[in-house]
Amino acid sequence: MINIPKGTKDVLPQDSYKWQYVESVAREVATLFNLKEIRTPTFEHTELFNRGVGETTDVVTKEMYTFKDKGDRSITLKPEGTAGVGRSYIENGLGNGALPAKMYYLIPAFRYERPQAGRLREFHQFGVEVYGASSAQTDAETILIADTLLKKLGLQIKLYINSIGCPTCRAAYNQALKDYFHPHLGALCGDCRTRFEKNPLRLLDCKEEGCKAVNKDAPKILDYLCEDCAAHFEEVKSCLALAGVDYEIDPRIVRGLDYYTRTVFEFVSTSIGAQGTVCGGGRYDGLIEQLGGKPTPAVGFAAGIERLLMVMEQSGVVIPEPIKPTVYLAGMDGDCRKKAFELATILRNHGVIAEVDLMERSLKAQFKYADKLGAKYVAVIGGNELEEGRANVKSMETGESVPVAFGEIVEYFLN
Ligand SMILES: [Zn+2]
Ligand SMILES: [Zn+2]
Repeated sequence: MINIPKGTKDVLPQDSYKWQYVESVAREVATLFNLKEIRTPTFEHTELFNRGVGETTDVVTKEMYTFKDKGDRSITLKPEGTAGVGRSYIENGLGNGALPAKMYYLIPAFRYERPQAGRLREFHQFGVEVYGASSAQTDAETILIADTLLKKLGLQIKLYINSIGCPTCRAAYNQALKDYFHPHLGALCGDCRTRFEKNPLRLLDCKEEGCKAVNKDAPKILDYLCEDCAAHFEEVKSCLALAGVDYEIDPRIVRGLDYYTRTVFEFVSTSIGAQGTVCGGGRYDGLIEQLGGKPTPAVGFAAGIERLLMVMEQSGVVIPEPIKPTVYLAGMDGDCRKKAFELATILRNHGVIAEVDLMERSLKAQFKYADKLGAKYVAVIGGNELEEGRANVKSMETGESVPVAFGEIVEYFLN
């Protein structure tokens, strides 16, 4: 027997409706905000992620599925959705079209991580990318997309926002961080000592206890915002208030990549037993330029589907079950079974969900199976029925039976 690769998961037929539900709500919300789906390849040149995700990130340094293809090119399975969309935006000249370009994606993504609860090596994401608009309303609208989605999925959530400024105000802030952390370097983890040199903002992100203790009193970015960034952040907040969305400011949210600018946000589940971030995003005005395009304002977010499903389950959200067959056509034997097959075809052609025995079961076993499927009706065709040109239609709910002529069966189930 060949087993499934470590860190991957099958979505089985009895569970796939949950995925389809989340995906359909995501598409519905995307449509509501007039986003168009973009589909980019599952693999890209490795260089794209080195530039587009950031060479110092854990994702790029430790977690990428990278391999040489037969043409000796370095290829990587996408570890996230944004870089591919950015590449496509530049390559296809989407910036020359009507702006903003409002896009969403539903993708598998791949990271070589130590498998643990809620973390898989192949996982799935819904993401939104809005390119070409720098207004604060764009940030607010993007946050609203996520807010609408999470609420439609039945989640209780809290929004945390922050601004990490622009390269101008961040230069002053980075210096303040360095001044603050310098005397504490000995207490920081190895990763953080590297971050201190390369990207001090990411020191605030560290989950190590020792680092967290030092971080507590670090200077706050909001005190260092330039005038434009401060005004932008005020405007984002006022748009959120206008939309009736509650938020809290959390200065510890930093998206530690160079191309992130201004607004950053996270949605956290507040249901009992289901803590944790369900969605994160922000503005990244530096990304498209970093990927070789013209400077282009951009904002977006991503939410992991597995994570959403896990939190929905922990929060007791009931996902609507798939539609059950309307009618199971049970044929006694030989010609009766053929008639059942024929009627099932006619019913399906008229849009009625009909099921028929494919296992050559006895009539009794067919009834049992129809019950298991949750069919609303069983239409029995025995010798007598065949002769008289009708089926005996039994309601599985009430147990009542009525004869229905073969020629009227479509009409019967359409009404
Ligand atoms: Zn600024
Ligand atoms: Zn650390």
